[in-house]
Amino acid sequence: MPVAGSMHPEAGSEALWARALKVFPGGVNSPVRAFRGVGGTPRFMHGAEGATIRDVDGRTYTDFCMAFGPLIFGHRDPDVLRAVQEALERGWSYGTAEPGSLELAEFIRDRVPWVEKLRFVTSGTEAVMSALRVARAATGRSRVLKFAGCYHGHLDSLLVQAGSGLAEQTRPDSAGISAAVAAETLVADLDDLPQLDRLLERHGRELAAIIVEPLPANHGLLIQRNEFLHAVADRARGCGALLVLDEVISGFRVAFGGMAELSGVRPDLVTYGKVIGGGFPVGAYGGRADLLDLVAPAGPVYQAGTLSANPVSMAAGLATLRKLAASPPYAMLAARTAELAGAVEQGLHAAGLRGACVPHLGSLFWPLLAGPLGRETLPRRPDHCAPEHRIRYAPFFHGLLARGHYLAPSPFEVGFVSTAHEPERLAALATDSVEVAARVARELAG
Ligand code: PMP
Repeated sequence: MPVAGSMHPEAGSEALWARALKVFPGGVNSPVRAFRGVGGTPRFMHGAEGATIRDVDGRTYTDFCMAFGPLIFGHRDPDVLRAVQEALERGWSYGTAEPGSLELAEFIRDRVPWVEKLRFVTSGTEAVMSALRVARAATGRSRVLKFAGCYHGHLDSLLVQAGSGLAEQTRPDSAGISAAVAAETLVADLDDLPQLDRLLERHGRELAAIIVEPLPANHGLLIQRNEFLHAVADRARGCGALLVLDEVISGFRVAFGGMAELSGVRPDLVTYGKVIGGGFPVGAYGGRADLLDLVAPAGPVYQAGTLSANPVSMAAGLATLRKLAASPPYAMLAARTAELAGAVEQGLHAAGLRGACVPHLGSLFWPLLAGPLGRETLPRRPDHCAPEHRIRYAPFFHGLLARGHYLAPSPFEVGFVSTAHEPERLAALATDSVEVAARVARELAG
């Protein structure tokens, strides 16, 4: 077997990709990794440090994908590494009560007032799935309302999209999901309160929960007006549904208390993932104690997991959250990201990519290469992104990859800045974006 890491062609990305296609569906273990959104062969990565990631072909990139969000201190942060090594020395799976999860849970509860109790799971998907089960049990209702453009993991009931006619006619967004399960979910548009009110007038009494990503970051970055988020919370309460904030991306990332802290919206239930595990597999759902007490063995809602609260993940999460609380990097990250986004946006405009913009919040940014012309505000819904974005993004991505910047290999995934991204690296991305955007504009015009 060729050894990944040597620079022989048989161990390079091209060769590994040929092998991967034979053993994994589409060559990967999660779809975006396959580069379908940008074309070309995925780079096989086998090492990372700080702001950089290395492929098996011997190239190093500044990483702006950052494992899709968990690594707020960059790769191999020394404090996280130490905590993980110490945990490993003691043992890596017990399947018992253990102190690591207790420490992490108390650390969160003592700082995030709306998390009175919580339960650790292994992924964001599991967190959302479990939170909705609790909501159904608590309300005795079965339907859930979500917003188009928000992603909540791959649980059946939320892999749905609005039907072509009425918003309440939902259909599966994946093969293998029954129409009956899809029909349990209603899909509303972001930033459209009148439509939400119409839906709730007819179906409000059927809803167990309204779930929203308070910072939608899975169809690019669709920053919501604060008034809209508050209105969603009011409407949920008005119809007796629980408000579930999905903070898998935004939790501990935009502020320690996530978007709930920044917006002032208080959830009944909240879901976490990514940063809470410091780059190891963790999810969590938490919220009102009376709701969490419905979960087994305290209550009738069954939910369990062999690897739940895995001690290595707990150690990584606790080291990460301790560091975030001890010296909050949020203002610095937001300032650096704002500067980066502003510089890239100027470059896109200078290149003549009309309608382009770079929405950003905290340490998240999204180069939108074609918004609807003439729009003065930020994109807030999926249809605020023009179809040309997809066409422009592929050469933009590859141009930057060739210059040593690894953006997410999809036009609809956001970029992440970590504390390990020095200002010079951000400046280099901005400079190279200008050149690459100009070339993309010329090539697509010509
Ligand atoms: N909710 C949100 C907001 C997410 O962004 C994601 C994953 N990107 C999930 C849920 C699902 O998390 P996981 O991939 O860990 O299952």
